[in-house]
Amino acid sequence: LIVGVLGGGQLGRMLALAGTPLGLRFRFLEPRAPSPVDGLGEVVRGAYDDLDAVRRFADGVAVATYEFENVPVASARALASDVAVFPPPAALEMAQDRRREKEAFQALGIPAAPWRAVDSREGLDAALAEVGLPAVLKTRRLGYDGKGQAVLREPADADAAWARLGGRPLLLEGFVDFQRELSIVAVRARDGAEAFYPLVENRHRGGILVETEAPAAAVSAELQSRAEGYARALFDRLGYVGVMALELFQAGDTLLANEVAPRVHNSGHWSQDGAVTCQFENHLRAILGLPLGSTAVTGTTVMLNLLGALPSLDAVLAEPAAHLHLYDKAPRPGRKLGHVNLVDHDPDAAHAAADRVRAALPPEAGPA
Ligand code: AMP
Repeated sequence: LIVGVLGGGQLGRMLALAGTPLGLRFRFLEPRAPSPVDGLGEVVRGAYDDLDAVRRFADGVAVATYEFENVPVASARALASDVAVFPPPAALEMAQDRRREKEAFQALGIPAAPWRAVDSREGLDAALAEVGLPAVLKTRRLGYDGKGQAVLREPADADAAWARLGGRPLLLEGFVDFQRELSIVAVRARDGAEAFYPLVENRHRGGILVETEAPAAAVSAELQSRAEGYARALFDRLGYVGVMALELFQAGDTLLANEVAPRVHNSGHWSQDGAVTCQFENHLRAILGLPLGSTAVTGTTVMLNLLGALPSLDAVLAEPAAHLHLYDKAPRPGRKLGHVNLVDHDPDAAHAAADRVRAALPPEAGPA
């Protein structure tokens, strides 16, 4: 069976690495060369909006999926006329537009920060009057890893934020004074079976994920089931198949939805070494109509992203609990180059191992 993947970044790489033992073969549509999937399957070089390339890519694949969130929805829909595409293009369409995402949260009763759409400078003032300060101005589309965002702390910040982001469809949302950021990775199979990984805690710097702790500490059964309920509501609305990640803010006892990723997600990378079945394998099982694997954890995992610069192999592997995953990407400031999973049945031991690996990171490592 050939699985077609739109996108050939690290997520495509890890899908192929998880699917190969199941006897699957992979084909990628990826415009850039070299790419992290080189050597892991057939790579069709082409732009995502080149419908000829999309057709060549689709020929003979059993099912198609995407690992890159900004694949044009039109390409995903064109593909869907030839081959089954999961998650459904409607999920991609929602996730590409923060406004559609917020509207979905609202329609499903999923709590989120207050928000207003902003399309003009006067519109920003009107939105500020309703949302209040502090607030975050975000582009509606093509924002990721904190790009395309400005925090407004006082009224005088509005001009600078507008100068930087104005002229595109925007959204203003209330700044959430959260205690921590959590996410839930969930998966839904073609027959409707669902499975959920435990809530994990994510730490960001400069808008980019640097660390995940899985499972998150001190999560009540009630909190876990609330998060699962939100994911399930999104699944039902979208007719979803595959892995989805829902990013959340925890403020006191409230859980506010931030955004949805209709794909395997960085905050699920810990599952490669800390769960019975990893998110990549479960995504493939789901889209192929196979039974899902157990999402149970095998210990506590701390996942450290390797950003911008790599430590030596020796330094990381000197830590016996370390599992190293490199993406075969050239170092560039802030770029995601790999990650390390530190797994131990004892949470303190996992944290101590993470401390040692963190200390071995080169000084220039970290967000740009
Ligand atoms: P996003 O691209 O929406 O995931 O935002 C990137 C990061 O910026 C989040 O993980 C948070 O750390 C921070 N952030 C985004 N929106 C808000 C908000 N409304 N309030 C506080 N922090 C936010």
